[in-house]
Amino acid sequence: MKCSKCLQDAIFFQPYSGLHLCGQHIIADVEAKAKKVIRAHGWLKSRDHIAVLLFGDQGGSALLYFLKKLTEQRSDIRITALIITDKKSIGSNTLRAKHIAECLDTEFLEVSLSEESECGAGTLAAKNPEISSLPMFPTSDSILPDGIAQKHGITKIAWGLCLDDAAGVVLDHIIRGDGEKLVRNSSFGDAIIRICPFIAVTAAEISLYAELCGCGNEMTINPEPGDGLHKDVNDMLDHYTDNHPATKYALLNLGENLMGLTTGIAGLIYACECYGKYQQGICNDGSISIEVTNVAR
Ligand SMILES: [Zn+2]
Repeated sequence: MKCSKCLQDAIFFQPYSGLHLCGQHIIADVEAKAKKVIRAHGWLKSRDHIAVLLFGDQGGSALLYFLKKLTEQRSDIRITALIITDKKSIGSNTLRAKHIAECLDTEFLEVSLSEESECGAGTLAAKNPEISSLPMFPTSDSILPDGIAQKHGITKIAWGLCLDDAAGVVLDHIIRGDGEKLVRNSSFGDAIIRICPFIAVTAAEISLYAELCGCGNEMTINPEPGDGLHKDVNDMLDHYTDNHPATKYALLNLGENLMGLTTGIAGLIYACECYGKYQQGICNDGSISIEVTNVAR
């Protein structure tokens, strides 16, 4: 089968568009989607210091590669790899993250949440180190408190949330009957802006992009975080998407629309971050979530 856009052999079929793509056009397609999202939301500004969360996974390394490439001619924008550690998590993931940063010739900032908590910036992550083992769902003030980000001059935090993650969170909330959380989460004050340029790119495309760009020898993305229901929802969504390929895009749009005109995609990203805490049975205020409470009765 030939690529739908050139005469090269296709290596990937994109079910929702009906296109067969060669390696070169997969790269072009992923980058075009990411650039469109960045433009639409004004995520790149002069004098930005963007910290890319690296957990040693493909999503983070692909995102770092992309943002470095995108800004290579922009001396007014600084890209840093952000590696979060705590006393219990210093291990292979941290080493892998450092290796990725070095391979991509990127300065990295290693933040120890344990040390930060000892000097008064205590967070949920410090109380619950397992949170930091959820690569796809870093939580806003648990993974990197805004105060720490500001201390290091960071203006935006980039993380590798992909279409599958965002769609899964939206559907999960609806199925649990707590869709109002999507709306309620949209009020997030003056938090440091989170950007997710790959939010409209599928996990499979990001994996392929990472491999084609030479940064794919890392953990695959989608480590299936969360509880049994979340896994069931994701399995169901994947199965349904096999026959209805645009479903995840529809859920992404639904989530963004539920957030309303004022917060839009930023609200959805925030909801996904909150979901990381929810999945750990911990709410924003540190209390136990409703579902966990019910199970305990
Ligand atoms: Zn092609």
